[in-house]
Amino acid sequence: MTQQEQKDHGALRVTATQAAAHVDPARLLHAIAALARFGARDDGGVDRPALSGRDLDARRYLIERAHALGCTVTTDHCANLFIRCAGTEDLPPVMTGSHADTQPSGGKLDGCYGVLAGLECIEALNDAGIRTRRPLDVVVWTNEEGTRFQPGAMGSSAFVEPALIDRYRAVSDASGVTLADALSAHSDAFPSLATRNETQAAHAFIELHIEQGPQLEIAGRPLGIVSGIQGVRWYAVTCTGVAAHAGTTPMPARRDAMTLAIDVRADIDAFAKALGQHDTRVTFGRWSVVPNSINTIASSVTFTVDFRHPDEAVLAAFDQQIAQCAARPDVMLEALFSHEPVGFDAALLTRLGEAADALEAPTLTLTSGAFHDAMYLAQHCPTAMLFVPSRDGISHNPLEHTDDDHLVLGTRALAHCLATLCNEP
Ligand SMILES: [Zn+2]
Repeated sequence: MTQQEQKDHGALRVTATQAAAHVDPARLLHAIAALARFGARDDGGVDRPALSGRDLDARRYLIERAHALGCTVTTDHCANLFIRCAGTEDLPPVMTGSHADTQPSGGKLDGCYGVLAGLECIEALNDAGIRTRRPLDVVVWTNEEGTRFQPGAMGSSAFVEPALIDRYRAVSDASGVTLADALSAHSDAFPSLATRNETQAAHAFIELHIEQGPQLEIAGRPLGIVSGIQGVRWYAVTCTGVAAHAGTTPMPARRDAMTLAIDVRADIDAFAKALGQHDTRVTFGRWSVVPNSINTIASSVTFTVDFRHPDEAVLAAFDQQIAQCAARPDVMLEALFSHEPVGFDAALLTRLGEAADALEAPTLTLTSGAFHDAMYLAQHCPTAMLFVPSRDGISHNPLEHTDDDHLVLGTRALAHCLATLCNEP
């Protein structure tokens, strides 16, 4: 480093520390409570389907707050919201944010925390009197949860791969409303929002999110630096037998689809665990039995397999072994969905580590077990995620909770990191 570079580096650190220090705990916690009112459930949870009336109300709250902060707000072909705090130079923005839709019996933090922490970072920069070189965009990605319209993460995937929107627009919710209808309701609700017509380059994307699992709590660390998102395979396995009377058919004469299915399941379970060791997640979540009768031997059993692992090679080996396992006439295998593991950007992970060090916060490096918008953004620009602990690892549940201190610390680390990135050339 030259002397000038050292000086610049030092100035950047001071700016980042000031941004983190100006995060206001009361303002952040108030905003989380305020957003949770839109779709509040009696049990303390939130029910806010993507682009529903409640979601539009929540978006109105976010847009009004953004305008009050002096930000501009634009939207795009999938109703993603881009809340921009201008930079001093016309450079690609640093992006942060997450989603504001929830599960039907969701909590108030999943997604919303990342959006509101992003807004709090803009407040902190303003209060600290910091003008950054690059613009900062806080993004609200549409329909991450995928409960009203499938698949999930529609907004972020359509941002990265715009051609997807044609297929998405035709998708209907349970009452027959198409995404195209819901998108026009959104533009009717916000006629003054300008629309971005093309996907713009970005300098980086950082998503702050609750962990939704127990690892940080178990390790006693308040911040998780997320190195990537594990890959997944979904299969349906159908085992065929012959229906017969449960009382009259001798055991050796039976072709019982359930007996076969249980054996096949045990085989898959064994090789899945052997292949992936302690990183394996294998789940046999849905079973359908024909004829599903107490006194008839099953003629057909179909069960699903959800296999997840952070290593591409393990996922490929799993594909091979499950295909071998199904290579017999009475077992049929159907591949339903797959996604390769995503590795986040090494330089951004270093930045997050520096932010945590500056705040003297112990970290744990971990892989995300759940999908996030960041999984798609990683195809677009350098991307990383930061986690805060979830009490008892619970999420997608009204009981979802993160300690206030952890919510504040995560936001300070985000502010530190964003201030640094926004001042990079
Ligand atoms: Zn989420």
